[in-house]
Amino acid sequence: MTGNRRRALVVDVVVMGAGIAGLAAAHALTAAGLSVSVHEARNRVGGRLLSSTHDDGAIDLGATWFWPDEPLVRALTDDLGLATHPQALSGDALFEVDQRGPQRLAGNPLDVPSARFALGAQALAAGLADRLRPGTLHLVDPVSGVRIDEDGTVVVEAAGGPVTAGHVVLALPPALAVEAITFSPALPAPIRDLAASTAVWMGGVVKAVAVYDRPFWRDAGLAGSAMSHLGPFRELHDHSGPGGSPAALFGFAAAAQFDGAAPEQIATAFGHQLARLFGPAAADPRHIHALDWSRELHTSPRAPSPRASTATYGHPLFQQPVAGRIHWASTETAPDHAGHIEGAIRAGTQAARTITRLAVAGTTGTARGDRQERSCTN
Ligand SMILES: Cc1cc2nc3c(=O)[nH]c(=O)nc-3n(C[C@H](O)[C@H](O)[C@H](O)COP(=O)(O)OP(=O)(O)OC[C@H]3O[C@@H](n4cnc5c(N)ncnc54)[C@H](O)[C@@H]3O)c2cc1C
Repeated sequence: MTGNRRRALVVDVVVMGAGIAGLAAAHALTAAGLSVSVHEARNRVGGRLLSSTHDDGAIDLGATWFWPDEPLVRALTDDLGLATHPQALSGDALFEVDQRGPQRLAGNPLDVPSARFALGAQALAAGLADRLRPGTLHLVDPVSGVRIDEDGTVVVEAAGGPVTAGHVVLALPPALAVEAITFSPALPAPIRDLAASTAVWMGGVVKAVAVYDRPFWRDAGLAGSAMSHLGPFRELHDHSGPGGSPAALFGFAAAAQFDGAAPEQIATAFGHQLARLFGPAAADPRHIHALDWSRELHTSPRAPSPRASTATYGHPLFQQPVAGRIHWASTETAPDHAGHIEGAIRAGTQAARTITRLAVAGTTGTARGDRQERSCTN
């Protein structure tokens, strides 16, 4: 389904957003025997997991790593049969304080042991999406409204048409949800205010990745990591694939540094900084990819709250379904590992557990008890 209005759907659960949280929720709900419909605003799955594939491998413009204390990412990776490789750590880091040039930091204190996805992090989402039943996933189908009728029926207004359900999972950043979606009746003020003031993790960041013919920095005993007080990129890391292919370096900058500049301008600035840090060999990358996540319509709110903070991550109110029907599930709502892929998977599976419990108890009947997804005429 891509855009035209379809006949109305009736399902047990609507999942809004096909990022890793939404897909984890959909997968768990389906496994519990509930009918699910997933509506995604973009023309792709993955949300903040975004990988670009080259002849010699993938690079990530969103999430890159997972860490040893993240069992759900490891389990999903293994279940999907995805290859991983350790983050390259050996060599010295660089530290740039002022115009005098970078200093070497022996033994790379900037990186910690972590793992990477050989096919890119988006492969996690693609793998889960491939497991959904045909017709479950609706791309280019942004949701604009959620209504709860007096009898408790949830009606979700998506671009392709309304969907009637027993429950809805908001698998998108809470601040974006309250900006982009009209709720009827209105959300209670405490949860609306909480959502609006919950920062989108990495929503204010620019990521740039430079791809080279070979990891030349390793010849000089450098790890590829750097910290810079001069900027515009403050933090840089080796982003090479397994065995150094594709060879790549990436950097993070605050989006405010660029004020909405075009990707080409950001790439040029990154290229100049790489040459300053790593020498002339860095001046000639094959490509530079740059993405300003603050300008991504389906990640960051247009008007983020000036009070937005990460202190509200995993807040108890996010663990309680609104009116017993509306469930929060994004990395920001996870009580553990919030901000990370691990947190997103936890949030999605937790929402699915809650819905399954409510559905089994029969306290909030889903789709009038009929667990088969079906269409009905408008
Ligand atoms: C640059 C960057 C680097 C990162 N690095 C790491 C890392 O190394 N390791 C790590 O663990 N985490 C990292 N993260 C964080 C990680 O990407 C997130 O925690 C995770 O992907 C969030 O998943 P999610 O499903 O909660 O949200 P999202 O991925 O944001 O998914 C939300 C989905 O909802 C969709 N959507 C939005 N609005 C609507 C609407 N109205 N209707 C329907 N759909 C809608 C979006 O298009 C999106 O697909 C990074 C993030 C960024 C941006």
